[in-house]
Amino acid sequence: MIELDGSQGEGGGQILRTSLALSVATGQPVAIEKIRAGRAKPGLMRQHLACVHAAAEISGAQVEGAELGSQSLRFVPGPVRAGEYRFTIASAGSCMLVLQTVLPPLLLASAPSQVHLRGGTHNPMAPPFHFLERAFAPLVRRMGADLQLVLRRCGFYPAGGGEVEATIVPAVNGLRPFDLVARGALLSARAECLAPGLARHVAARELEALGKAMGWSGEQLRVGTARQNEGPGNALLATLAYEHVTEVFTAFGEKTLSAEQVAHALVKELRDFQKSQGAVGPHLADQLALLLGLAAWQSGSAGTFTCSEVTGHTRTNCEVIERFLPVRYEISGAPDAATITVRPAG
Ligand code: AMP
Repeated sequence: MIELDGSQGEGGGQILRTSLALSVATGQPVAIEKIRAGRAKPGLMRQHLACVHAAAEISGAQVEGAELGSQSLRFVPGPVRAGEYRFTIASAGSCMLVLQTVLPPLLLASAPSQVHLRGGTHNPMAPPFHFLERAFAPLVRRMGADLQLVLRRCGFYPAGGGEVEATIVPAVNGLRPFDLVARGALLSARAECLAPGLARHVAARELEALGKAMGWSGEQLRVGTARQNEGPGNALLATLAYEHVTEVFTAFGEKTLSAEQVAHALVKELRDFQKSQGAVGPHLADQLALLLGLAAWQSGSAGTFTCSEVTGHTRTNCEVIERFLPVRYEISGAPDAATITVRPAG
């Protein structure tokens, strides 16, 4: 039984999801105490419970402590089972975080899987659908596996109700690591605003403010056409396609924020990324650390990437991964363009 302190490092839900994913992927039971102790409402929230249940479903796990507010969990997985799954989050919690939990083990399963997800698709503090589709999925494919994502319906806070389908095809000869140390030349930069439940001027103003600050115009700025369930949610996305990687940055509308403030939050993220030399941004670094860890374990070879910023999230994620996989992370370089290398241990 691997014993983890959920309050370590960043102390958030990522510790739980990475642990569940790797417990199922490696068949090692895990006990987590002080879950999300670092958050305002500690313990398992509905969204985290959905991740626990999903991880249990794909592995026939025995689980203790899977209750709302619980700060401790024991999770004993069986072997991962490929198949067709449906996971629904009744609240507006992010269903993309459920995918983040089941994807690593299903990528290592013996056959393809089809996962139908319902819930929030564009939530603050979670990977939005378009980030996973445009930035993350191509890196999964680069490792020899396949991940296809289809957005049937957007789901925003507070109504949720979004729908996503994921097709996960494991790599025939196991995941292969790669090096991603430079972005390469910028091929295109564009933004779209998803705000189907709001007055049209909101999207227009967000795009106008973003375009003005970034020097983007015309075809580079568009109002998204994605279908949406009820609710006033709004996500402003910027997609930067480079030779070697595509990055997606997102800002979220809130009742208390003006359209211009939403645009400026995104401009800040874009400028921080553009200022640095790192190949990927802070969120893609979190996801890539886990993918490359799995690939290093499976292949016995190292993988390296550079990132614009090493956040507490990324560091904590690497520490948790090292508890499950026989791999070691080395984080070096300047804080604004760090290099992360993962090697098989020993
Ligand atoms: P936690 O805060 O511990 O629940 O973890 C949140 C997860 O969502 C981490 O894996 C973050 O990298 C990811 N995340 C948060 N915001 C974004 C964003 N705007 N784009 C992509 N991923 C995100």
